Amino acid sequence: MVWDKMEIKYINFGTGNMADGVIYLNKNLKKYPRLHDAILKHERKHSGRFKVKDIMLDFRNEEIRSMNKEYYSFLLRHPKALVNFLPALKINGVWYYDLSLVFIWMFGIVMGIMIWWFLK
Ligand SMILES: [Zn+2]
Repeated sequence: MVWDKMEIKYINFGTGNMADGVIYLNKNLKKYPRLHDAILKHERKHSGRFKVKDIMLDFRNEEIRSMNKEYYSFLLRHPKALVNFLPALKINGVWYYDLSLVFIWMFGIVMGIMIWWFLK
């Protein structure tokens, strides 16, 4: 797939998502050009399928880690962006499941149960 030719659509929630070859970015990111480009770069790296590569990409999150301050101030000023941390998202009436996030949430829940188990 030619990533540079991927269609970009601006929506009013979330941060960045990639589904069916279309990248959905929060329109407010236009006010944060550096963050906009970092998120776009990140979304372009996704395969659009559930692969180990995609999970590692989200765990490492190299593109956004270098601009955490901008990222968190964006999240605080645009709380609707936080829906991006949910494992399922409805875009233009269609539900998309972010399997990397499903995995990360499950990992977090399992870790939580294990910690609770050892501490009780
Ligand atoms: Zn990602």
